[in-house]
Amino acid sequence: MHERSIAKQSTPFWWQAAPVKPLPQQPLTNKLDVLIVGAGYAGLSAGLALSRAGRSVAAFDVMSPGEGASSRNGGITSGSIRPDYATLSRRFGEKKALTIEAEGKIAREFLYDFIETERLDCNFQLTGLFRGAIGFEQYESMARGAEALAKRLGIDSYAVPHVEQRNYIGTDFYRGGTVRMDIGGLNPAKFHAELLRVALAAGVTVHSNTPVSSIARDGAGFRVVTSAGTVQARQVLVCTNGYTDGATPYLRRRLVPVRSRIIATEELAPEVMARLMPKLMMMSEGLQLGFYYRPSPDGRRILLGGRDSSRVGDPAAPTLRLRKGLVKRFPELGDVCLSHSWFGNVAMNRDMLPRIFEKDGVLYATGFCGSGVVWAPWVGTRAAHKLLGHSEHAYSAFDFRPPACIPFYRGNPWFMPAVIQGYGMQDRIAMWRASR
Ligand SMILES: Cc1cc2nc3c(=O)[nH]c(=O)nc-3n(C[C@H](O)[C@H](O)[C@H](O)COP(=O)(O)OP(=O)(O)OC[C@H]3O[C@@H](n4cnc5c(N)ncnc54)[C@H](O)[C@@H]3O)c2cc1C
Repeated sequence: MHERSIAKQSTPFWWQAAPVKPLPQQPLTNKLDVLIVGAGYAGLSAGLALSRAGRSVAAFDVMSPGEGASSRNGGITSGSIRPDYATLSRRFGEKKALTIEAEGKIAREFLYDFIETERLDCNFQLTGLFRGAIGFEQYESMARGAEALAKRLGIDSYAVPHVEQRNYIGTDFYRGGTVRMDIGGLNPAKFHAELLRVALAAGVTVHSNTPVSSIARDGAGFRVVTSAGTVQARQVLVCTNGYTDGATPYLRRRLVPVRSRIIATEELAPEVMARLMPKLMMMSEGLQLGFYYRPSPDGRRILLGGRDSSRVGDPAAPTLRLRKGLVKRFPELGDVCLSHSWFGNVAMNRDMLPRIFEKDGVLYATGFCGSGVVWAPWVGTRAAHKLLGHSEHAYSAFDFRPPACIPFYRGNPWFMPAVIQGYGMQDRIAMWRASR
């Protein structure tokens, strides 16, 4: 194997600035208003809103708080919805499709406002996002989409023709693209650490390395078994997303954990960064198994993420695949060394929409499909308002029936290799059509 392909560290690059660590052990309160399972963005955002409303709240996490996806992600504030507008309109009708799309705008603004109001030190920059088109046909359709987005929601989004592409990204891999200026980047681990600081200050108790193993009805409330003891809670909120385990079997049958991996380059020369990422924007592309990439907040390295199927086969293969993808987009990085390569779990469900739903009295806030930097704080906060009975703040287009159960699935995603192969085939066809 090429020595340069292997990264020096297998922990997230972000942990250099904000190491994830366990909290000091907390005494267990046996009676709570609300018990939250999971202390990522969703669980902590919910806890913050509930605690500020005067509820006694504790969040339990089987790992250190943030050690799930919330300190491992790309930090791109995409707030994307996987199904496109046309698919949403077909499925739910135009009105609901628009409500869903509009909620993305509101959720992004909520996040930016939260960061500013609470003065969260997390390197947030509203840089804009460039999405590269695979071929001129896709460019035409993406350009129409950008225009429609500007019209429908007043978002600053526009097309970038191929001849102007190098003003945005130093590659010939794409045939133009689109820009939307309502998306930016942050350091996800710093954002989580700051959210944790604010939640603790508001009175949320956070128990780290304390798994919840079962939740059962008990009179009007719930009896929750944790590794630290049993707790009586009036209400329970589950925020375990891509790390959902056997403690919540109903959710486990509805969410598929999918690994996503990110590589970080060593620091690059300033003139190289200026050539490859002249506007220091976030980047994505029009492929099913495409990459997302971005500059580090100091603008000195490139971080690139994508699918990771290393549950089977050579564990180094996903890092090599991402590195190959990086070099394909930026051939001048052929000799680049990687400083970090790490992975985490995102959670997919059958209709690819985030969700707030209730089952047997337990509330769930989950299913962020790889876009939880925006969705998890928003959906977590909305779920908290639902528990508080604040109907005017609880509305969300994602508050509807539970995601469908996945047939023959109990936690082992046996079907994923076939799904990935199918997407890979679609991408190869798109690339072939683009090259004609
Ligand atoms: C590599 C990668 C890149 C990504 N890039 C982006 C991006 O650029 N932009 C974006 O918007 N999103 C991105 N995401 C997705 C985003 O990180 C997640 O959607 C978001 O962090 C989900 O937050 P959460 O609070 O729902 O879940 P998490 O942060 O995953 O937290 C869930 C927690 O539940 C805990 N838990 C599970 N079971 C139990 C139990 N029984 N008892 C106690 N605790 C339990 C886990 O320990 C975990 O800490 C990415 C994800 C990954 C992995």
